[in-house]
Amino acid sequence: MKPIAKTLACGLSLSIILQPLPLLAAPPVSTGTGGAVATISEEASKSAIEILNKGGNAIDAAVAAAATLGVTDPFSCGIGGGGFMVIYLAKDKRVITIDHRETAPASFTPSSFLKDGKPMDFDTVVASGMSVGVPGTVRGWHEALDRYGSMSFRQVLAPAINVATRGFKVGETFSHLVAENETKFQNFSTTSALYLRNGKAVPAGTVLRNQAMARAYREIAARGEKAFYEGPMAEAIVEAVNHPPLAAGKSAAAGNMTLADLANYEARIRQPVHTTYRGYDIYGMPQPSSGGVTVAEALNILEGYDLKAMPRAQAEHLYIEASRLAFADRNAYLGDPEYVDAPVAGLLSKQYAAQRRALIDNGRASTALAAAGDPYPFQNDQSITLRPQQQQAVRMQESLHTTHFTVSDKDGNVVSYTFTIESWGGSGIVVPGYGFLLNNELTDFDFSGPRPNVPEAGKRPRSSMAPTIALKNGKPAFTIGSPGGATIITTVLQTIVNYLDLGMPMDQAIEAPRISERNIEASTVEPGYAGSDNARALEAMGHKWGEKPEQIGAANALVFNPDGTVTAVSEAKRLGGGTALVQRSAH
Ligand code: GLU
Repeated sequence: MKPIAKTLACGLSLSIILQPLPLLAAPPVSTGTGGAVATISEEASKSAIEILNKGGNAIDAAVAAAATLGVTDPFSCGIGGGGFMVIYLAKDKRVITIDHRETAPASFTPSSFLKDGKPMDFDTVVASGMSVGVPGTVRGWHEALDRYGSMSFRQVLAPAINVATRGFKVGETFSHLVAENETKFQNFSTTSALYLRNGKAVPAGTVLRNQAMARAYREIAARGEKAFYEGPMAEAIVEAVNHPPLAAGKSAAAGNMTLADLANYEARIRQPVHTTYRGYDIYGMPQPSSGGVTVAEALNILEGYDLKAMPRAQAEHLYIEASRLAFADRNAYLGDPEYVDAPVAGLLSKQYAAQRRALIDNGRASTALAAAGDPYPFQNDQSITLRPQQQQAVRMQESLHTTHFTVSDKDGNVVSYTFTIESWGGSGIVVPGYGFLLNNELTDFDFSGPRPNVPEAGKRPRSSMAPTIALKNGKPAFTIGSPGGATIITTVLQTIVNYLDLGMPMDQAIEAPRISERNIEASTVEPGYAGSDNARALEAMGHKWGEKPEQIGAANALVFNPDGTVTAVSEAKRLGGGTALVQRSAH
């Protein structure tokens, strides 16, 4: 988590952010009945509605939307990556999560990203086979469909196969993302062939077809998840990781993945993280994502204040400080739960939150980085004697990419789903013959440790993804989630505060300028925010903004209204705007 300006070198540039707004073809807010969906892609939202209209449930529709996003938004997500799905099952009245985060191949060790004892260059590792984790997306979709869906891969992949075969019109954002990644993409022959024209980004307006990705989906449709994890597609993935398909005169480090790594990959069904806030039950993603725990801890800290009664800047001051404290704990304690015994019960305890809250000055921004607290006395299990030494975690680059979307159905099932290939365009390697980009998720490890997020064989790198479902009186009330690396956590947190405490309707809660404090020297803010009245009120309390303002996370949400209707909410502006649809419009 170095300053974001550094992050920009390997991905997003401000030129994307400052694009003029396209004319919106599809609405970013829709209210109605039946199922609903909000994604950043018009095609993906339509795919979800198509599946809902054919009688599929929210889980079926989520896989359909995700597969379509893999075609239309291939630089943020796809079958070459992984993710986290939070599902509310109406019939069972319970929330479950599916962790299909990438894993480090069995060849990995804590020194895999060290050279001569020092961390390797970040960008060099990104654009290589070394950064590629064993992809989890297809196994995640399989678990979702098999356990909770009602349709087959063949049915739910059909809309995405159509879009990939028929083609879709490249938009400004798409073209700019390619332009920003030209250098990375030029390294690899397959990627250049798909996304560059004479070495330059495919221009907006081009109709792009991806027959190879359609083929990959067709094989999964025909043979299920095994088509991905065993046989020719698995062989092509391993070959692409270990011998990247280089363009003439280019070089990239090779990875060390085996067919066994793929065949052995398992998704995990995990219990959600749960906390309560202002009468809502908030369910989020547990480790290996830090998203759920960190959002919950910050909410627990904020619960002790009457934010509603405060001027907005005062409430935002407390939001920033709570986030700072929660991030200090996140960095110190959280990682893959199969490798790290994190004190989660302590971190989620309301008494612990009260202790953290006492560190906040109500009128002044803290001047130093926050230290991690000691949640161990607040663990239920007091017998834990092996406690990690407090260490200042090395702060790695974390980037701004990924996609989040949300779907519900007429029966009340709800999905909140964030998935990614990490950086824009992941490792930059398109798998020959199959048209999808491989992730660079392993750069989410801390290259030089220390624990808890040091690379290890089979381990999942710590994530920040925070797909969230909130219930009130036992019924779904709203969903929220966002892309954006570690800013995902702050976007989810700030949107909840905007919505529940500052009284904004969800579209305004999402649209409001974002402030992201991640226990860094200066909070990240969006372009145009510094200098606003609100910013000045916070500056008067001592808050500082990073020098490079940048767009933070394109969020998507659903709100379940008291009259039984549902409102789907996407972005009006960020990333060119998203598409919110309902099965039956109320208007
Ligand atoms: N790899 C990031 C995470 O898991 C998401 C990628 C991004 O949004 O930059 O938190």
